Amino acid sequence: MNITLVKGDITEQRADAVVNAANSSLLGGGGVDGAIHRRGGPEILEACRALRAGRYAGGLPTGSAVATTAGRLPARWVIHTVGPVYSPSQDRSDLLASCYRESLRVADELGAATVAFPAISTGIYGWPMDDAARIAVETARAAETSVTEVTFVLFDGPAYAVFGSRLGQRA
Ligand code: ADP
Repeated sequence: MNITLVKGDITEQRADAVVNAANSSLLGGGGVDGAIHRRGGPEILEACRALRAGRYAGGLPTGSAVATTAGRLPARWVIHTVGPVYSPSQDRSDLLASCYRESLRVADELGAATVAFPAISTGIYGWPMDDAARIAVETARAAETSVTEVTFVLFDGPAYAVFGSRLGQRA
C-alpha cells in the first residue's frame, strides 16, 4: 500500500472512497462531517437516514464504519466512521485504530482501491495531533487490505507537518 499526504479539503479528493469523521447519529455535524454533507448534497443524508431507520437504529458505534453514496463529491463512496472523544484519563487508542481498520475493511468490501482519510478525532473530539497521526499511520501500515492507495488529507500546515514526520518514522 502506498501512503501519501495532502494538505487540503477532503471534499475535493478524487478517491474511490473518502472517509467521514462522523458522529454516531449519522445525521451530520461540524468539521469534516458538515463539509461532506454540504458539498456532497442531500443524497448522503438520505442514505444516512435510511441506515438509522434500519441496521443502525441505535446509531453507528464508535470505532465502526459504514458506507453510503458520495452524492456530488468526486468520489464513489463516503465511508462514515465514528472516532472516540479523546480522554486524558482513559486510553481509547484501540477505538481510534478501529476506525482506520474498519474503514479499510469496508473499502475492501466495496472494491475501493483508493481511500482518503481525514485526521479522525483531532477536531471537535480533541485528540492530540501527534498521537492521532501515529495511530493513523501505524494502523494503515499494518492493515491487511486490498486498498492500494491511502491518502491522509490534512486541513492545515501544522497537521500536515505532524503527519509528515510520523510517516517518515519507520516503527
Ligand atoms: P472529530 O469530531 O472526529 O474530531 P472533526 O471534523 O471535528 O472530527 O475534525 C477532524 C479533523 O479534520 C481536524 O483536524 C480538522 O481540522 C480537520 N478538518 C475539518 N474540516 C476538514 C475538511 N473539509 N477536510 C479535511 N480535514 C478537515
